[in-house]
Amino acid sequence: MPKLNENYLNVQDSYLFAEIARRVKAYEENHPDKAGSIIRLGIGDVTRPLTKSAVEGLHKAVDEQTVSETFKGYGPEQGYEFARKAVADYYARNGVSVDADDVFISDGAKSDTGNITELFAQDNVILVPDPVYPVYVDTNTMDGKKIIYMNGTEENDFLPMPDNNVKADIIYLCSPNNPTGACYNKEQLKAWVDYALANEAVILFDSAYEAFVSEPELPRSIYAVEGAKKCAIEFCSLSKTAGFTGTRFSYTVVPKELVFATSDGKELSLHDMWNRRQSTKFNGTPYIIQYAAAQVFTEQGMSECMENISYYMENARVIAETLRKKNIPFTGGVNSPYIWFKCPNGMESWELFDHLLENIQVVGTPGAGFGVNGKNYFRLTSFGTHEKTKEAMERFDKLF
Ligand SMILES: *Cc1c(COP(=O)(O)O)cnc(C)c1O
Repeated sequence: MPKLNENYLNVQDSYLFAEIARRVKAYEENHPDKAGSIIRLGIGDVTRPLTKSAVEGLHKAVDEQTVSETFKGYGPEQGYEFARKAVADYYARNGVSVDADDVFISDGAKSDTGNITELFAQDNVILVPDPVYPVYVDTNTMDGKKIIYMNGTEENDFLPMPDNNVKADIIYLCSPNNPTGACYNKEQLKAWVDYALANEAVILFDSAYEAFVSEPELPRSIYAVEGAKKCAIEFCSLSKTAGFTGTRFSYTVVPKELVFATSDGKELSLHDMWNRRQSTKFNGTPYIIQYAAAQVFTEQGMSECMENISYYMENARVIAETLRKKNIPFTGGVNSPYIWFKCPNGMESWELFDHLLENIQVVGTPGAGFGVNGKNYFRLTSFGTHEKTKEAMERFDKLF
């Protein structure tokens, strides 16, 4: 009989979106007359279609695959040179220097943030913010690794800062943040880099929403901070930037500077380890997708993405305006597609969920699903249409 990885018993059921779906379905069944007017502002998925550059790239690459002269089979596990260079050039245009050789192309920031745990031993002190993107917690739990939480609260604007009394080995940061929409400034990220360097810790930095940063002084990459290449791995993705949630392209930067001592005094490079891991367990992102992604990273391609992002951010503006009018405290919505607000009238997040569904047929995401600090908070997303978002917030305005 196989002995199973019983750490899976410690992984919480992915209850959040299933429970939301269950409550919405029950409401629809009990109120068939209202079912048609439900507006969903809970989704964490994009809705705008692929851009022109991406689509043209896909078509061209498909055509290449139909001819033996240009047909491509297995590609490099790390990604094609042209794609790695396209990512490095994109960083450079945003003022950050990244070596194309340190860029690993993959099929998702979710897979990479999950798989990276393999490089680390069991007995690390792992710091994870709460509220949080659940992948960091669940993947470490599956590995049997122990997590220490750092609180994101109204007091720290949902941006936990280093605590010198806690000696961490691995630190997860996500900025702009899902679910809170909060974004670290450069000084705050520098404090984290300084902490990591002083404690020989590694920062796992998720910048999946970097393209939504609208305030130019805010860092879009941890490598905007000096010294970060000695202590940070960065994960990013075209999922939210270019609507690639169903198309799949991500990139992870593992600088060669990330070298740590082993227990017997040798040295191990995280870059070499990740390279070995990917070469062994991954056979690359499809050529067609990498080719299309390279078109997305051109100036023309990115300006098309920014049109979609501006569309979403107009929704964020409408949501924020309503919350401000109602004096409801919130974070996000400026450098992030997410808006995280305090439930009015002392409600808890599931209570507000039901209240909004029952009274105005608006569906959002209860903060409790992202950690204990989300108990009294609620997430709305700007990934809907202008019409629906406006309508939802007009109903919200009347309700409170
Ligand atoms: C959406 C999202 C990602 C992107 O994941 P993919 O697997 O690339 O689609 C990564 N991190 C966070 C926090 C996200 O919300």
